[in-house]
Amino acid sequence: MKPGLFKPYYLYRFLRWKFGNRGPITAVAKVTNRCNLECDHCPWWKRDIPDLDTEEWLRLLEEARKRGAIHLIFEGGEPTLREDLDILIDHAKELGMLVMVITNGTIDLGKYDPDSYWVSVEGVGETHDKNREEGVFDKMVSNLKANRDVNKTACVTLHRYNAPQIEEIAAFFSPLTDGIWFNFMYPYEGAKDIALSPSQQRDVAERIIDLKDKERYKIINSYSYLESVGRNMDKKRETCPSFLTLLIDVDSTMKQGCTVEQIEDCKCDLCNAGCYGELTQAMKLKLDALNFLKKTMGLESDKLLWLK
Ligand code: SF4
Ligand code: SF4
Repeated sequence: MKPGLFKPYYLYRFLRWKFGNRGPITAVAKVTNRCNLECDHCPWWKRDIPDLDTEEWLRLLEEARKRGAIHLIFEGGEPTLREDLDILIDHAKELGMLVMVITNGTIDLGKYDPDSYWVSVEGVGETHDKNREEGVFDKMVSNLKANRDVNKTACVTLHRYNAPQIEEIAAFFSPLTDGIWFNFMYPYEGAKDIALSPSQQRDVAERIIDLKDKERYKIINSYSYLESVGRNMDKKRETCPSFLTLLIDVDSTMKQGCTVEQIEDCKCDLCNAGCYGELTQAMKLKLDALNFLKKTMGLESDKLLWLK
């Protein structure tokens, strides 16, 4: 692994975050709980909270930028169900933020123009459809093929059903996407039966490390994060830099912290959430985790030099 060199500016920003500035770098805008699918283990589509209107979201995006966020994630539910998503994306870009949209991949990826999409992948073939519905996998794959020029990462949340398939997933999605990111399912109340235990997650992380070493798949998880999975679980709460994330909930509530807190009390000793895991390693100034953030948050974009 050869992490790219960081411009001194980025190092300066990370040092500021590490040693005092507790502002967020990423804002996660939950623009809807609605989804065109109804996955069993998903808590979001079961929440009955109406969407805010466009004007309110434009104001919230400005507020997020004022608080320091330079990276914006639109998520849901399925954010592409919002007819004004193009307006929100354009506004976030005008504010100077890098924009990512998390989607289940069933809606035309060419319809909007974010800096990147993260497409949620459950597995290959039937494994994907098992938690979604029949035919969704084929629809997603044809959408990926039809939009080869769009920047997209396959985002795979691992649990008991798809963990045996990581090799197959990496082989299948490497030619179709710009990267594959493995994450570990948090054991939400409604999902604890299928979530992997910390020791099972450790075993899976070893297999991912092995794949990165031996194959030329586009796995983007950092070694530093993968090596931390399942270790030091009793210290998670103290080390997790969840304050770097500003969550904007579907009802306009804004809060720095992790997404679990939007639903239930955190069980940090069972959590290996990938995004916060990478942030944890970045806060330790691990170059490969910093490099992961550079790629996924667009920190290599020169326009960030002009942001405060
Ligand atoms: S596609 Fe995603 S947001 Fe929609 S129900 Fe499934 S897990 Fe939830
Ligand atoms: S549940 Fe996970 S992401 Fe949330 S504060 Fe705990 S360790 Fe961090």
